[in-house]
Amino acid sequence: MNTPHALILPFPAQGHIIPLMELSYCLIERGFHVTFINTQFNHERIFTEMLLPDQAKLIDGIHFMTIPDGLEQEEDRHNFGRLMTSLTTITPSFLEKLMKNNVAVKFTCFIADINMAWALSIAKNMGLRTAGFWPAAAGILAAMFQIPKLIQDGVIDEEDGAPKKKDVIQVIPRLSPMDTINLPWNCLSDAYTRKIIFNYFITNKQASSDAEMIICNSFEELEKPMFSEIPNILPVGPLLSTFQSREDPNLCQLWLEDKECMAWLNKQSTCSVIYVAFGSIAIFNNRQFEELALGLELTGQPFLWVVRPDLTNKSINAYPSGFEERVANRGRMIGWSPQQKVLKHPAIACFISHCGWNSTIEGVKNGVPFLCWPYFADQFFNQSYITKVWKVGLSLSLDENGLISKEEVGSKVEELLKDRDILAKSQALKKLAQKSAMEGGSSFDNLNKFASFLSDI
Ligand code: UDP
Repeated sequence: MNTPHALILPFPAQGHIIPLMELSYCLIERGFHVTFINTQFNHERIFTEMLLPDQAKLIDGIHFMTIPDGLEQEEDRHNFGRLMTSLTTITPSFLEKLMKNNVAVKFTCFIADINMAWALSIAKNMGLRTAGFWPAAAGILAAMFQIPKLIQDGVIDEEDGAPKKKDVIQVIPRLSPMDTINLPWNCLSDAYTRKIIFNYFITNKQASSDAEMIICNSFEELEKPMFSEIPNILPVGPLLSTFQSREDPNLCQLWLEDKECMAWLNKQSTCSVIYVAFGSIAIFNNRQFEELALGLELTGQPFLWVVRPDLTNKSINAYPSGFEERVANRGRMIGWSPQQKVLKHPAIACFISHCGWNSTIEGVKNGVPFLCWPYFADQFFNQSYITKVWKVGLSLSLDENGLISKEEVGSKVEELLKDRDILAKSQALKKLAQKSAMEGGSSFDNLNKFASFLSDI
């Protein structure tokens, strides 16, 4: 039998690249060759951060290829309106060329992030097996499938998805009710970008029918009622492979990981450290940044805080006066962490998180209780899973000035760490997550099903 060769295309953002790298390792373990496509911009950034020469195109069995995202070098990749427009207008012809001109390797299947589902038809027309990967909660995909009904029922505007009325609605039966302002395309600041993103969602949702199968980074017990709402979906999460248990797995990080924080964690007591991280996109204004710093100080606990170089809208992340000196013996601020290893560490007590789906799954599979601080997109939805459905965390509340105050951070950390019920539920969910990903578990079996479907060429 010929060895199957998967060509894998993530949406060009950190929270999409990492789970697709994890999936790549799962497929390599099942006998696949894998070629992974990054945008030229991200590829250069990853290889510089990893201190690898650009010509190293094969790492841990994964071949890397690139396509342009169509933006100028200096443009902001967090301007999603610009990025999505250029991905659907400029990038497709380059992707087609990459697939067609590559005579040296024979790709047998194509796995696209559903957020890049527009690319599936290119692979389908070339006779490849096609599959989609959904990197968020299945509940969000199920909600996206409801867009036509939401328009028909007069809940959202057909042009830009804006809510016609502010309301808490039951988007789909058995899904916890959602505030219409928290529908994923509505959590964005300006109307112009929202319109582009809403229409990008619609395009991709329609194009997802070109995928013969869809997999998602979730598991049966986590979102049971959702999987029957989406045709041909298989939950395969949390994505686990032996590659990830290596000392230094390559997950295509866009920032240089601070590996020394692990030695620091080794020196902390069990269940004592508050881990604080807001993923790759969230941005704080200076006032809120200061309030968080002072809140962490108020907790009196050790903390590990990921302060990305671009976490605030200032060129330098400015801590409150004297803060760094006052917390020096128990707080550590780093630019980017090896998050999966951090969350697995026994010193971690809780996770102050923006509730991005990867962070959510990573916290769940390690049994770490959450303090939720959502920022945008699907994060409000994930927060409601964490706090209301699985009951493995608490939410932080805004004060009358629209800020999360230092007192709120201090008191909610205290409340969370005392809550035996949340801790017990976090541990129980961890067991279910691990069971599903291990041999004989539902996600493990689904991954095998997926791999044999793709190998059937
Ligand atoms: N991450 C990391 N180090 C950090 C912060 C985040 O490795 O310091 C990883 C994290 O493990 C997760 C991804 O970056 O896999 C962020 O994805 P998520 O969906 O949580 O958030 P997004 O960045 O998409 O908002």
